Amino acid sequence: MTLNIIQKKILRLKEEKEAAILAHYYQPIEIQKVADYLGDSLELSRIAKEKVPNDIIIFAGVRFMAETASILNQDKRVLISHPESLCPMAAYLDAGMVKSYREKYPNSQVITYVNSTAAVKAESDLCCTSSNAVKIVKRAFEKEKSKIILFGPDANLADFVEQETKINLIKMPENGNCVVHSQVTKEDLLRVKQEHPDAMILVHPECVRAVRELADIVGSTAQMYKFVKESPKSVKEFIIGTEIGLLERMMEDIPEKKYYLASDKLVCYNMKKHTIEMLEHVLNNLDDNNYEVKVPKNIAKRAIVPLERMLEYS
Ligand code: SF4
Repeated sequence: MTLNIIQKKILRLKEEKEAAILAHYYQPIEIQKVADYLGDSLELSRIAKEKVPNDIIIFAGVRFMAETASILNQDKRVLISHPESLCPMAAYLDAGMVKSYREKYPNSQVITYVNSTAAVKAESDLCCTSSNAVKIVKRAFEKEKSKIILFGPDANLADFVEQETKINLIKMPENGNCVVHSQVTKEDLLRVKQEHPDAMILVHPECVRAVRELADIVGSTAQMYKFVKESPKSVKEFIIGTEIGLLERMMEDIPEKKYYLASDKLVCYNMKKHTIEMLEHVLNNLDDNNYEVKVPKNIAKRAIVPLERMLEYS
């Protein structure tokens, strides 16, 4: 793996300062290359809780991911390499809305996607990611007394889970979505498929139903990666229906296959706010509180419960 001067400096700095870098698959590839741990939301939550020995964690991803790391590691210093890297999906649901839904459906269970704020998690019974949403909903439905499940904020993921489980979900709100995945259209996908008829189609569950219905596989980023990695030699081409960062990762790690992006809209502006230069800057300024992500104790104490239940169930 060839590294540029800044990447080499980062490797040296993080060793000197005993900091660990956690990066999401949607990060720019330069950042992925210097990360200690790479993964999707579920993998990174698990890694943050169980694997990172360092007292300093630098998160390259959107804010809710760094918040999750902080909730699961309340005694560690968690920093984010771009403080304004926010996930617009999380803005669809706030704690007050969850309370209102609960009042309307008093005997319900609240399951929230990890793409939500810490305050929303604090009001939830369980969290889920796109990797485990189907499993978590099934488990909650089978094991808990209440069969009324409130699910938010992604209405497309909720729709996918309903299709897979045949369990009815009340969406909080009706129209929550990912500004990146929900933009992909059936026409985008058909165009790419026409150019590459032998390619298998892999899409994320945050895509709309019309797009998911054209896919060979619907899965989280980690599930797509695993599928491609384990695919037989005879399967050589893939149309990737998720953020471009995963495609770049696959090109690095599994270069013998060919990849085509399902749509040129698959670039998450917020994930791409992080740069290798900013990562170096944070490593040089670990005491700067502007980069620290600290969830207030009273919220963290409640938000950790649905997160730990999720990790236990998945
Ligand atoms: S890809 Fe979508 S869900 Fe993921 S961080 Fe970007 S806006 Fe949020």
